Amino acid sequence: MREDMKKLIRMQRFDDRIGDLDAQKEKLPRELDSLKTNLIEAESKVEQTKSALEDNQKQQKLKELDIQGNKEKMAKYENQLLAIKTNKEYKALNSEINHLKEKNSAIDDDILMLMEAETQLRTQLEEDNAAQDAAQKELDENEDRLRNRIGEVEKEIGEQRELRNELAGHLPRSLVKRYVLLIKNKQRKAVVFMENDACNGCGFRVRPQLAIEINRGTKIISCENCGRIIVEKPDDASA
Ligand SMILES: [Zn+2]
Repeated sequence: MREDMKKLIRMQRFDDRIGDLDAQKEKLPRELDSLKTNLIEAESKVEQTKSALEDNQKQQKLKELDIQGNKEKMAKYENQLLAIKTNKEYKALNSEINHLKEKNSAIDDDILMLMEAETQLRTQLEEDNAAQDAAQKELDENEDRLRNRIGEVEKEIGEQRELRNELAGHLPRSLVKRYVLLIKNKQRKAVVFMENDACNGCGFRVRPQLAIEINRGTKIISCENCGRIIVEKPDDASA
């Protein structure tokens, strides 16, 4: 029976390692996904700034066309001024010309503001491009590493499983069945130690009579609370 218990303890060690590896296996693809998401976000930022810049330039062009149109109107009116007969007509036309001048001066101010915004957008675009390059570089640098690591982890899980199953082959079937059920239902912990007269799986106090039996090690004892197989803690941790 002592030999069986040693095997169970070793099987539990393999399952502990498999648990760690499974957690890594879940975490690694998420790390890769997060790098990909960073890149997609950086790319979309670049596109946004580019489109704002295009819009800004379109607006500047339209404003320049407005100024041009107003100037043409003013030139036409100034020509008409030369042929005008009455003072009233002269005043009306002159006020129209002044009105257009004011309009153009306001549009000039708008253009200045747009040019200022354009400068900011160009700086922003440079920053966005740099951020995109950095995100791309980080993904390139880590993609292979993460993929390799996922492969390694999967390989090691397979190896650990094989070693565990080999041990299981040397144990009575009913005991293996009990072990597997506990692994499945008890957070991957089937074999626990008695520590300070308590189960170190759930903390439940072991009755003195059971403690004696556990120390004797002549039969497989289950924790009365969590049902895990409870054994005496080996002196040698690598037993
Ligand atoms: Zn317990």
